[in-house]
Amino acid sequence: MHTSTSHGPTYNKKYPPQFETFKPVCNSVELGKCSQTELINAYDNTIVYTDYILAQVIENLQALKDFKSTMIFVSDHGESLGEKNLYMHGVPLSLAPKEQYEIPFIVWVSEGSKHVKSLNKITQSYVFHSVLNFLNIQSPIYNEELNIYK
Ligand SMILES: [Zn+2]
Repeated sequence: MHTSTSHGPTYNKKYPPQFETFKPVCNSVELGKCSQTELINAYDNTIVYTDYILAQVIENLQALKDFKSTMIFVSDHGESLGEKNLYMHGVPLSLAPKEQYEIPFIVWVSEGSKHVKSLNKITQSYVFHSVLNFLNIQSPIYNEELNIYK
């Protein structure tokens, strides 16, 4: 699933109205014209909505009692919300502030399924190899070093 929730510039259009928990919100595509508080409020509302979506995914997976299942949620990037006068994302990694590359990586596993290794730093590179591991798919390009599951 691609949620496209916390992706600028129109954060306020990335969640249904009932998820507008934090107000006032930025309503402009020109993010520099909004106060940082309005921008953060709109962004945080996308997080509220993403939380709801992930909770629904987990509930649906939990209902499939006969299956071992997992959910991996990872962002493609973070977003700058006016820190250092930067907005959105796309600054080359060597120059980017941490807001643009320190991203959530959330994993849920069903009861009786595989466990998750205790890892300090993981990246998007772990997704591919972890999915292969979880599904017991054999491949010559599989790399155990990039697998999150025990
Ligand atoms: Zn993106």
